[in-house]
Amino acid sequence: MGFEKNQIYTVTIEDIGAEGEGIGKIEGFSLFVKDALPGDVAKVKLTKVRKNYAFARLEEIIKPSPGRVEPCCPVSRQCGGCQIQALSYGKQLAFKQSKVENNLVRIGGFEPEMIREIMEPIIGMESPWRYRNKAQYPFGCSKDGTPVTGFYAGRTHVIIPNTDCLLGARENKRILDTILKHMRQYQVAAYDEGTGQGLVRHVLVRIGHATGQIMVVLVLTSPVMPSKNNFMKALRELHPEITTIVINVNDRDTSMILGEKEYAAYGRGYIEDELCGMTFRISPKSFYQVNPVQTEKLYGKAMEYACLTGVETVLDAYCGTGTIGMIASRHAASVLGVELNRDAVRDAVNNAKQNQISNIRFYENDAGDFLLELAQQGGKLDVLFLDPPRSGSSEAFLNAAVRTGPGRIVYISCQPETLVRDLRILVRKGYKAEKCVAVDMFPYTDSIEAVVSLVREKRA
Ligand code: SAH
Repeated sequence: MGFEKNQIYTVTIEDIGAEGEGIGKIEGFSLFVKDALPGDVAKVKLTKVRKNYAFARLEEIIKPSPGRVEPCCPVSRQCGGCQIQALSYGKQLAFKQSKVENNLVRIGGFEPEMIREIMEPIIGMESPWRYRNKAQYPFGCSKDGTPVTGFYAGRTHVIIPNTDCLLGARENKRILDTILKHMRQYQVAAYDEGTGQGLVRHVLVRIGHATGQIMVVLVLTSPVMPSKNNFMKALRELHPEITTIVINVNDRDTSMILGEKEYAAYGRGYIEDELCGMTFRISPKSFYQVNPVQTEKLYGKAMEYACLTGVETVLDAYCGTGTIGMIASRHAASVLGVELNRDAVRDAVNNAKQNQISNIRFYENDAGDFLLELAQQGGKLDVLFLDPPRSGSSEAFLNAAVRTGPGRIVYISCQPETLVRDLRILVRKGYKAEKCVAVDMFPYTDSIEAVVSLVREKRA
């Protein structure tokens, strides 16, 4: 079949792609259709044709997906941050569950019966809005030069004004509106990406779900802010819930949000939150799960899968601020944590001290290098937790991990594709997947989190 631009096809959408677009197939040829949902039967027009796939525009929905609902957010289409907001929450969960299963079967080559046996039902949220404890808002100039904030319209750097993302806390809007007002009042200019002029690039708001502490990070092009004291005073007076304000300096031409240098303009420069009965310190740059309600469920599953009895040596790899390792430390003999980000390691060390945990040690290192060294020194592990970034773990890490002989591995993943890739390596090395569960950490978006437990069947 020859596919050409502007041709119209009828297609059934089966999947969601990396940027939230619907994916349908015609004789093995994939069509990526923006704003289409799994279950839609739609007429689409090809806009860009490649060798094995094409991009297409939705012309008409002939039969809507049974899960289609009216999105709650008025700007959901322009924003694109919530790729599946037009799908009912129940259908979102079903979609995510089947995505994990399908990945394990189709890409992982696992037996479908075996996967059905080990998969538990996905853990969703009772109330799936306003779950994020972290918001990052880009600032820019409107046509008349006044500062605006909102979000980038899909794949562009055009800011669509909006201070109230429905995934974030209600406080965000109030704080951002105050910042905008005071920028006008004190003539603090927003950064202009085109000219490189202006001061305010981004504002980050992080909220401690359990503690209510709020950190505001102003990302500026210069450490010097005109009328800084008045600005800070106004912000604090109107929002006494803000416990710290950090100025972060990013003067480079980069899409990275945070720069290297930062200082606390007010308060301690970090906030604290509580999770699974422990207190955690969160700095501007350290990773901390964004959905605290679901994080407790996720960590609960990870602990259940680890079957700790109090005598084990445990490694928490890719440990961030040390959350998983610290929770495990209560049920293990000793815990090691390894993490690349220096700020996160510093927070982890402080967190352990604050919670009076003495059987944990943190190392700032590449997880693969660390494990290789451990294996070379003959170190042994009983249980390995790993929670790598989206890109997954590495073959070097997994090879070294196996040499340390853990009887159990608990893999926490935010990307099913790399999870499956890594699981195949572990299975080849003598591990067997025992249980798997998806946890919906990011309702309304297409992100999927899953936990898998593996047990060693034979010595490598
Ligand atoms: N387990 C933590 C953090 C998971 S996010 C939690 O639940 O909060 C993944 C973490 O891996 C990030 O903190 C990131 O800084 C870290 N990371 C990324 N690449 C790494 C590497 N090669 N070695 C060690 N840590 C790495």
